[in-house]
Amino acid sequence: ELEVALKVVIVGDGGVGKSSMIQRYCRGTFTRDYKKTIGVDFLERQIEIDGEEVRLMLWDTAGQEEFDAITKAYYRGAHACVLAFSTTDRDSFLALHSWKLKVENECGEIPTIIVQNKIDLMDQCVVGPDEAELVARALGCRLMRASVKEDVNVGAVFRALAARCLAN
Ligand code: GDP
Ligand code: MG
Repeated sequence: ELEVALKVVIVGDGGVGKSSMIQRYCRGTFTRDYKKTIGVDFLERQIEIDGEEVRLMLWDTAGQEEFDAITKAYYRGAHACVLAFSTTDRDSFLALHSWKLKVENECGEIPTIIVQNKIDLMDQCVVGPDEAELVARALGCRLMRASVKEDVNVGAVFRALAARCLAN
């Protein structure tokens, strides 16, 4: 039986929780200051979707997003994408559109889910629920809300993406 392997890129402004999300999903841990393991481009986790084994390879950026210097190698061959922003960072929300375009330029149309992270910090929320829905609709993506810190919806995001890829 052929194993399905999916490359998933996680993009969004620095500080929104991308590395934490990957670490949470693949290692089950959360720390305040996650440093990317040197020499490792991605972490992986195997799941089962409708009886099929799926190997998810979650690609991390080494902080280059701050300098707009993510290389083509990062995007190359990606099957799916998480577009992440933070509940407490309005600029990261406003940057979603440009991140979507960058991914599209390199990968074409691939299954993409917008993730509003850090919903444990709702008391500091700077993005209205309606405007988040509106932007998601405008970009043609599903919106999911998550807290990597409290492990809310992280697994659901990657399951949904994997299911979308298998359905294609
Ligand atoms: P990246 O730059 O997008 O990779 O973001 P990081 O994964 O390095 O996370 C930036 C900071 O946000 C770190 O201090 C994380 O511990 C913190 N963080 C990540 N996810 C959450 C979350 O769901 N809730 C809260 N409160 N903090 C988070
Ligand atoms: Mg990071």
